[in-house]
Order: sequence, then structure tokens, then C-alpha cells
Amino acid sequence: MKSVAIIGAGITGLTAAFYLKRKGVPVTVYEAGACAGGVIQSSRQNGFLAESGPNTILETSPKISELIRDLNLEARRIYPNPDAKNRYVVRDKKPIAMPSSQAEFLTTKLFSTRAKFALAREPFVPPRRDGVEESVAEFVLRRLNQEFLDRAIDPLVAGIYAGDPHKLSVKHAFPKLLEAEQKYGSLLKGQFFGAREQKKSGEISRRDAKFFSFDEGLQVLTDALATQLGDSLKLNSPVNKLTQTENGWRVSTSNGEAEHGSVIYCGTAFKLAELKIESQTPLNFSIFSEIRHPPVTSAVLGFRREDVKHPLDGFGMLIPKIENFKILGTIFSSSLFPNRAPENFVALTSYVGGERQPELASLPAEKLVELVCEDLRVLLGVKGKPVFTHHHFWPRAIPQYNVGYGKFKNLLTEIESQARGLFFAGSFRDGISLGDSIVSGCNAADDSKIFDGNE
Ligand SMILES: Cc1cc2nc3c(=O)[nH]c(=O)nc-3n(C[C@H](O)[C@H](O)[C@H](O)COP(=O)(O)OP(=O)(O)OC[C@H]3O[C@@H](n4cnc5c(N)ncnc54)[C@H](O)[C@@H]3O)c2cc1C
Repeated sequence: MKSVAIIGAGITGLTAAFYLKRKGVPVTVYEAGACAGGVIQSSRQNGFLAESGPNTILETSPKISELIRDLNLEARRIYPNPDAKNRYVVRDKKPIAMPSSQAEFLTTKLFSTRAKFALAREPFVPPRRDGVEESVAEFVLRRLNQEFLDRAIDPLVAGIYAGDPHKLSVKHAFPKLLEAEQKYGSLLKGQFFGAREQKKSGEISRRDAKFFSFDEGLQVLTDALATQLGDSLKLNSPVNKLTQTENGWRVSTSNGEAEHGSVIYCGTAFKLAELKIESQTPLNFSIFSEIRHPPVTSAVLGFRREDVKHPLDGFGMLIPKIENFKILGTIFSSSLFPNRAPENFVALTSYVGGERQPELASLPAEKLVELVCEDLRVLLGVKGKPVFTHHHFWPRAIPQYNVGYGKFKNLLTEIESQARGLFFAGSFRDGISLGDSIVSGCNAADDSKIFDGNE
């Protein structure tokens, strides 16, 4: 059986390789960097655990639990502390807990009476049926109102995509919202009936899904996958050219060349744009450089518990643009999971940059810590200097599924049909969350087209 080349050892590529290998398909994973995991990077220093990239996985598919089980990692998986259930959103410079029930919604100070009426009216707003692709902002303004956009959706979009609701496509970035409107006529009805349907199909609705991590951070998962792959994983091996041959593909890296029956590209969209390709049908990947990836910096700061006034009794806080802060939001890391900070200390993970203020992400470390501390001082009553700092600059962090993104997705499908044995999976195609990436990797490994032609 000819082997499958997998380009990129992020969670997508590692998952695909792990399951292909289990099926007995020979795989080689080429990773440009010196370690596996892609944007998943956990590090422990001075008793603090810092996540440079993602912090949590939302368990939206049974495939996610299956992967944990297949890797024997169940004993190391940890769920958030049940006391940390508040999700704060900032209003008038104060974090206010998001309402978690209808009764709380009626009394919350997070939304005005006008916004509460807008939500009550939402089921009666007719769905749009002309097929025009709207931005998230256009969609929310049509179905709800400006305040919902500014106070609920804008901070959510910053928290998930570090994106701009005026640019992101509701169809591609939040497909479930559009589906709710198209199928049930309303978001509220969709939330209710959609969750029931998802339950029946075995999928878990985002509302019911649980977040998790591991005792030593998310890298536990990618390290375990890398260990399983052993010699099949080639680090420091950036693939720079693909050449279609009579029997498959020649993969060229800076270390040499190898022949494979098929290739699954699980790298990033911006690196795909740089990849040279020689194929029977002329192909060019340069268009993928048009996909926006705004810069983001994550800053993990540690403080003495007594230097933070806020109870930190929650997941974290999101910050709307109209509140005029520098940070996009903060995860209360040490409230969420144990062992993120030494006893009597707390760890707070904040994000800076994104589409909102991209220029801030590349500030020098000292300036960056200063501006994060200033925001934390106002919002959480943090005083004094941090006792621990760790930051990571992502020059191109998360692919933005902006209006018109369908053109890139269609092109990937077209290339797959033209270039036999070449496939794509990962966050630039199948959704940006870790759950989406795991499912994308699983689906690639289950796609018989990838290995059937290899015998
Ligand atoms: C700061 C940040 C915070 C996030 N927080 C969360 C969160 O809390 N929860 C969540 O669900 N999601 C989160 N995400 C999103 C999620 O982490 C990613 O979408 C997901 O990890 C993408 O995985 P991937 O394997 O598709 O890509 P990546 O992790 O980007 O991996 C791609 C790999 O391919 C390699 N590569 C690229 N080109 C080549 C080449 N030519 N040759 C060889 N190797 C190549 C790269 O070096 C890289 O290692 C976050 C993302 C970021 C950046």
C-alpha cells in the first residue's frame, strides 16, 4: 500500500495521521516547525501553566471523546471548576455576568429594556429568503438590534475569531445561526428545536457541550498524538513543492523528496498560498493569501490573589469594542482549571490585537504587559505588577471567514476534483474551533478516496 503524506502537524494533521495509521495505512507527517501541535502550545514555568494558543476544547462531537479515549487520555482530561460558571461581559467598564436563564435575562443590567424587547420580537422577524450573503452585523441588525450587536455579538466574535462582525460572514462563520433562521424561522426557535434535533443525531449542541482541557494543558493531546506517530512524524520539514506523478505525488521538503500515493494538506491557508505545485491540470494556490489572518498576542499574567479585587468566579470576561479597552478579553485561567497557578496566586490570560486593533499585537513585551495590566486594573481591580508574565505573538492567528469565503471553499473542492489524490482539511476549511479541527482530521482519515486508490 502506498503511503499518505500529511502536511502540517497541528491537531488536524495529527488526528488524521493517527486514525489512518490505525487503519494500517502508512503515513508520513511533514511539519515545518520544530515541534508538533501547531497553535497548541502549553508551557509550565515557575508553577504557572501558560497556553500560548487555545485554552479549551468544546466537546461538540462524539468524535472528540473518542479521540481522547483512543489515546487513553481520559484520566488526564479536566473539566472547568463548576464554581467558575459565570461568563462576564463588560458594560460601563464593569464585568457583568451573562444571564443564564430567562428570569436572569429579564433583570440583567447587561441589556436595556429596548434590547430585551428586541429579543422578544425576534421570533416574529421574517427570515430572509433571497440568498444574499450577509455579514454577522447585518444579520444581527436585521433580526435583533444595534445594542445586541454591540453588547453581545461583537465581544463574542472578538472572543472566538478575534474578528470583526461587519466583515465575518454569518453563513460561513456562524452557520448554525443562519440554519436556525432558515429552518425554524427564528434564532430563539432554532435554539430550542435545533438542540432537540442535535441530541437525536448524537451531536451535542454548543449550549449543552462541555469545555475541557488536560492536567498539563492542551499540549497533552498533541504530544500524545505525536508519540503515537513515532518516526512517521518528520519535524523541521517544511514542504515547499508538490509534483503530481504517474502514481501519486512527489513531496519536496528542504531535507529531500519522497513519493506518496496521496497528500492531505492540513497546514495553514497562508502557507498553502506559498506552496509550489506541478500537476497535470495547472493549479495555483496564490489566491489563498487573500484569506485574512489578523495578528493576536496572548498574554498570561500571574498575580498574587490578594492583589486582585474581583472574585474571578467565572470562565472569563469579553469586552465589547464600544467599551474602548485595549484587550479583547480575559480568561480566568486559574479559576477554570486547577494547577494553572501556584497556591495563593492567580493566572489571567488576555488577548490583544485581532481585527479590532491589529497594531497592538506586535507591541514590545514591556508595553504589552503595561497595557494589559492597565485594563485589568480598571476591570478587575488588579494592583501591583505581575509576578509572572508569558506572552506569544501570532502574526497570523485565525483565518477570518469573511463575506465571500465560499469562493475559497469552492476552490478547494474544485482542486480536489481536478488533482487526483490531493485533499485539504483543517481550520481554513472546516471551522476554526479545535472540535471542528478534530472532526476534520477524523473525516479525512475516514475518506476512503484518500487511501483506496493507493493499493
Ligand atoms: C491564539 C489562539 C487561541 C485560540 N483559542 C481557541 C480555543 O480556546 N478553543 C478552540 O476551540 N480554538 C481556539 N483557537 C483555534 C484553534 O486552535 C485552531 O483553529 C486549530 O488549532 C487549528 O488546527 P490546525 O491543525 O488546522 O492548524 P494549525 O494548528 O495552524 O497547524 C498547522 C500546522 O501546519 C504546519 N505547516 C503549514 N504549512 C506547512 C508546510 N508547507 N509544510 C509543513 N508544515 C506546514 C504549521 O507549521 C502548523 O504546525 C485558537 C487559535 C489561536 C491562534
